[in-house]
Amino acid sequence: MADDVLFNAILFHELGHHVFEENASSLPFFSTDLRNELEQVYQDKLPHFASATEEEQKQYLGRTVEIVRSWISEIYSDIVATSIVGPQFCFACSDLFTLTQRIVGLKQFTQSHPAPLVRASQQYYALTEVGWMVIPKEILPGSAFNDLAHQVFSKLEPGPFPENNDDWNLGYVGVGKATGGFMIDAFMKRITKVRAHAIAQVRDAQSRSKEFWYLGDAVADALNRAVVPSTIVSAQPPPKDGLKGVPTNGDQAFFRYHPQPCTVMNVARVLYQDGCSELLKRWTQNRLATYDETLHVHRRVSQWVHKAIGDWLLVSSAG
Ligand SMILES: [Zn+2]
Repeated sequence: MADDVLFNAILFHELGHHVFEENASSLPFFSTDLRNELEQVYQDKLPHFASATEEEQKQYLGRTVEIVRSWISEIYSDIVATSIVGPQFCFACSDLFTLTQRIVGLKQFTQSHPAPLVRASQQYYALTEVGWMVIPKEILPGSAFNDLAHQVFSKLEPGPFPENNDDWNLGYVGVGKATGGFMIDAFMKRITKVRAHAIAQVRDAQSRSKEFWYLGDAVADALNRAVVPSTIVSAQPPPKDGLKGVPTNGDQAFFRYHPQPCTVMNVARVLYQDGCSELLKRWTQNRLATYDETLHVHRRVSQWVHKAIGDWLLVSSAG
């Protein structure tokens, strides 16, 4: 599994932590504002805090600020990864949870991580904000693949948040109920800013989703025919901004594109989530596929994605 390019999308989350650490000290809503806000609310509303010594207050405050900061860092890293990789990252993330059985509960906060429900919902909002959740009508109307992709991506839509803080599970956070509620308040209050900041770090996030919707159909067609989708020839002219398409001949009837890794990976993920049904039909001539055959097809798709990404790097380095 470790050499599977789709599974490895999870590594972009770790890159997100690095981006967060580079930015965190210069962003007051992550650090000093957070500390001041929590200190004020503890002084006003927690009698045991107000009556503690200065040293005890400092320790208590420091520990809880650090926990909220970890939650923010996790969300930030998820959003950086989502903005770079698209829905494919969100699926890889849920694969990881399933494999390692780390989901103790969708509403469970821990000292290091916010509740999976919060993570999933922030990933989903980020996908919506950078254009993954709606098929742009002007680009490819009525494509069966785009409809399938839309359907697959909508599965990432999270359930509703609890009505109030008491319904989040704070059992593993190691603080009292009242403190936990204040920490969640402070965290939730910052989450929109955190998301906006993380998305802004990936400047071409929107063009990644645009290219997917523009070329997805053709890339899926290549993969379904067992062709590495390094070069796509399409009758669709390139949109006015972004996406580079070169006319293949003088009369501009066809255009040649080299799809980016993000597009190829997301197309492959859609096919995975759909069970690679078209490919399996070819492989098995319409009889029911065995487990080994399914695994084999999945491996091959992963290898073709690998190859397409390698080819893309070659094309980019050649200018
Ligand atoms: Zn993390």
